[in-house]
Amino acid sequence: MAVTTDTVSEWMTRFAASVSEHREELVRLDTAIGDGDHGTNMDRGMRQALGNLDANTQQDIGAVLKTVAMALVSSVGGAAGPLYGTLLLQMGTALDGTPEADLPDYAAAWRKGVTGVQARGKAEPGDKTMIDALLPAVAALEQASDLDSGLRAAASAAERGMRDTIPLIARKGRASYLGERSKDHQDPGATSSYYLCQTAAEALTG
Ligand code: ADP
Ligand code: MG
Repeated sequence: MAVTTDTVSEWMTRFAASVSEHREELVRLDTAIGDGDHGTNMDRGMRQALGNLDANTQQDIGAVLKTVAMALVSSVGGAAGPLYGTLLLQMGTALDGTPEADLPDYAAAWRKGVTGVQARGKAEPGDKTMIDALLPAVAALEQASDLDSGLRAAASAAERGMRDTIPLIARKGRASYLGERSKDHQDPGATSSYYLCQTAAEALTG
């Protein structure tokens, strides 16, 4: 398998299904340290994204990712919609006009996306956000020697990053209002980011 227009569409379909399957979990995590809307937000946004993908044939990987990004920005309120929108818009811009990406192209697109999320949200590693799952995933991709092992290593790194948010004190977003009381809870955005990396590994590996 490879990173192509079709497999990236399959990735987005699987991410939407994963978000839907885990909606209650994401709501529960966000209820503990936020306002409880992360699962419903992401589910609504990804349903809209799939509808928009179905409405038109996408010409290349960039077009698929940008279509999903625009749906998330326009249909998801709160912090995560614009941040996921930025991630996928920047990735899509990096893969504009690309029908098939190799590992260096794909890793570079992820780096551009995550850099965009950090530019927008100003989160650093350890702030208890989606960045704690995404940054280790990008590093794993950049260090990989082939696409399949890179995708799997990225998913494992995101999962570790997600779990490692549990003891952290939130310094960005709504959870930061809780201070010390944000400890001992897994970050909802890091959790959905793990699902993004996990479904990438499922859809894009052989
Ligand atoms: P809101 O907090 O506006 O209700 P969501 O509940 O949908 O939005 O998303 C919350 C998630 O967004 C958090 O768990 C965190 O991972 C992520 N997040 C919040 N602020 C930032 C930020 N400045 N940078 C990166 N991620 C952030
Ligand atoms: Mg919320």
